[in-house]
Parts: sequence; structure tokens; C-alpha cells
Amino acid sequence: MSFSYNLRKYAIYLLKKYNIRPKRSLGQTFLVDLQTINKIVEHANLSKSDVVLEIGGGLGFLTKKIAERAGKVITIEIDRKLIEAMKEVLDDIKNVEIIYGDALEIELPKANKVISNLPYSISTEITFKLLEEVPFEVAILTYQKEVAQRILAKPANENYGRLTIMVQFYATVEQILYIPKYYFHPIPKVDSATLKMKRKKLELSQNELQLFKEVVRNLFTQRNKLWTKVLKGYLIRNRVSKGQADKIVNECLKEIKAKRVRELTMADLVSITRIIKSSLEPNV
Ligand code: SAM
Repeated sequence: MSFSYNLRKYAIYLLKKYNIRPKRSLGQTFLVDLQTINKIVEHANLSKSDVVLEIGGGLGFLTKKIAERAGKVITIEIDRKLIEAMKEVLDDIKNVEIIYGDALEIELPKANKVISNLPYSISTEITFKLLEEVPFEVAILTYQKEVAQRILAKPANENYGRLTIMVQFYATVEQILYIPKYYFHPIPKVDSATLKMKRKKLELSQNELQLFKEVVRNLFTQRNKLWTKVLKGYLIRNRVSKGQADKIVNECLKEIKAKRVRELTMADLVSITRIIKSSLEPNV
């Protein structure tokens, strides 16, 4: 049996042949709708000069379609048995490098594009790692619908949080596809959505970035409180005197009104970071 329009049948055949029982804990559910696979690849506008990184090659269906258009594909897969099956699928393809390993643990290879149907259990962590470590221009990433909603959320929305801010800090994001769960094998519990991320110019220096991450992490642990209170608490915990913390908060209040943490915009958070940095340099 070979790669053909009926990918579900092919997946069932391969799983049986290689004695693989898909593990939910590793997000092992495979996209078997060829039209959707093709749409994902089209959105990446691939050419032979592109090096594409894929996290979780699985059975290699998406990998194969990427490889037909890109110069090179590097796919990381944590499951040895799946790699055996993937090698059969990619038999006639020469421009795929398969790395056996845990994408969260290894140093990620350089690539100018990322295309991945992410393993659900690590999708948030791996997104942070991709944004921080891989200098991609464009990423086409498929998430569980709920995670996609968190990434795309607007201020004050219940889904708005640290994930939203960190992704939107690095990239502009749009949803390009909605994928019903029955396009996968085995069929997962939830639908998926594919997002296109385009890296943007950073608004903060590397130095300020560390502080920004810390401020966002700390503020969003208390997302329903007034940001002034949460920020003051954070500063005091970081050995800033009460007087100085008050001064910084008042300085911020000139630009940002008192509102709940969950209502802070990206611009608000960037301003808060800059004001803390310039007031405390080099103490925080
Ligand atoms: N690319 C395939 C597709 O589109 O059908 C498979 C996608 S499946 C949702 C996720 C894949 O990621 C699985 O093959 C799983 O074994 C792999 N995986 C899970 N955790 C991983 C990790 N930490 N590092 C690398 N691969 C991982």
C-alpha cells in the first residue's frame, strides 16, 4: 500500500504493520485529509530555498508534502516506531532529515519556516521554544482549537493571557484553517485550528525582553486584580522599596489607566516594562 488519496486507510495499514498503538499522551493523532494537508503547505508559500522545521513528523504524510515543495525538511519525532513507518512513507524522498528526540529537550535546528501539527500536550511550551530559539519568518502551526483561541484572544477576553501576549509579542498571527476532528486518525476529542505566524520586529531590546517576560508572567498570575496592585507586589517581592514601587506605579499611571490585569494591552505591557527598566536600572 502507498501514499494515495485515502490516507486514513494508509494510516491504519502502517500502524498495524509497525505494531503502533497511538498514544494520546504524545498527541499521536494523524492528519489524514489530503486536501487539508495541501492547504497547510500552500499557506507556507514554499520554494526550494526554504528549510522547514517540523515538530512531530508522525507518519510523515505532512512531511512528504512539505518536502515536495521545500529545499529541505528537518522533522523531529520522539517515537522510534513512528520513525520506522515514516521512513516507508518517505522512501522516495531525499530532502528530509529525521531527528529522533524530544523537541522540548534538544537544541532546535535553524530553519526559516516551521510547519507543524503540534503534539497537543506540549503545544504551549514548544511554541515558546520555537519563538525564542528558531529564527523563522513564517510558521504554520496547528493547535487544539482552545489553544488557538487563547493565542488569538483580545484584551479582556477570558482567553487572553500570557500565551496570547508572548506569541503576539513575537509575531503577527491569523487563523487560516479550521480542522474538524474527524480529519484525524484516531479521531481526537476536539477540533483544531491552524494559525499562520509571521515574525515581527521586536519592540524591546534583549535586555528589556527578560524583564518583559517576568512582568507578564507575574501580572497574569492575578489577571482579575488591578494591575497597579499586582505590579506593586511584584516590585516589592523583588526588593524594590515601597516608596520606589509607588513612584514607579505612579509613573506608569500617567500612561496607563487603572484597570484589571486582563485588560492590559501589549502597548501597556511594553510601557510598564520600559518605565520599570528606566527607573531601576540596574536593580531589577
Ligand atoms: N505530523 C503528523 C501529522 O500531521 O499527522 C503527526 C502530528 S501528531 C499531532 C504529533 C506528533 O508529535 C506525534 O507523531 C508524536 O509522536 C510527536 N511528538 C509528541 N511529543 C513530541 C516531542 N516532545 N518531541 C517530538 N515529537 C513529539
